[in-house]
Amino acid sequence: MRLVFLGGPGSGKGTQAKKLVEKFGLAHISTGDLLRKAIKEETKLGLTAKKYVDSGELVPDDVILGMIKEELTRERRGFIFDGFPRTLAQANGLEKILGEMSLDIDYVVNLQVADDLIIERLGARRLCKGCGFEYNLKTRPPQAGGKCDQCGGELFRRSDDNDEVIKNRLSVYREKTKPIEEFYRVRGKLVEIDGSLDFDEVFEAITKSVGVG
Ligand code: AMP
Repeated sequence: MRLVFLGGPGSGKGTQAKKLVEKFGLAHISTGDLLRKAIKEETKLGLTAKKYVDSGELVPDDVILGMIKEELTRERRGFIFDGFPRTLAQANGLEKILGEMSLDIDYVVNLQVADDLIIERLGARRLCKGCGFEYNLKTRPPQAGGKCDQCGGELFRRSDDNDEVIKNRLSVYREKTKPIEEFYRVRGKLVEIDGSLDFDEVFEAITKSVGVG
């Protein structure tokens, strides 16, 4: 199974992808996670990417496509792309890379969530420093007083989850990423999911629509 998860910031792409990956033994390829790791480790890629990620702008397409090519040489079993592609140039680039490997995307899952709910969700989002598990202080709070239920790690707020950067990420999404929906719609791959529902309902809708539920 080869999937793309499309959807604005805070649409639930990452958490849904993680569960699907766990259940079906897929690889989770999140360009956001890869970039944050590179930034933390201060690699060359990280130093290039930092200013874009901090401001909510997109990292240049050639940098992202280079990263994806490298990931795919390592990983050929089923996978979920989370947060990639984000521009038409990336979607075209991906089609070319997969074509050269005689592979194709099966479905593109588009998680739709209204802007006001996205802003609410990102304001309440907290992540574990240790294992990366994602919480929402309102809808999915940690049980043990501010620490991670999975590993006891400290929780933190992503530095780009602040009001100003969130607004920019939403407008970048509308301008640069939305057009991808049409790219995949004409290829018959786009699956629309209401991402505003509860986590379990969204998961069920996704698994049904990609033929594994
Ligand atoms: P995410 O974790 O998917 O919300 O991504 C966080 C940030 O990483 C974005 O706001 C962008 O700055 C950068 N980023 C992640 N994926 C991509 C991509 N496919 N193309 C360009 N920039 C990206």
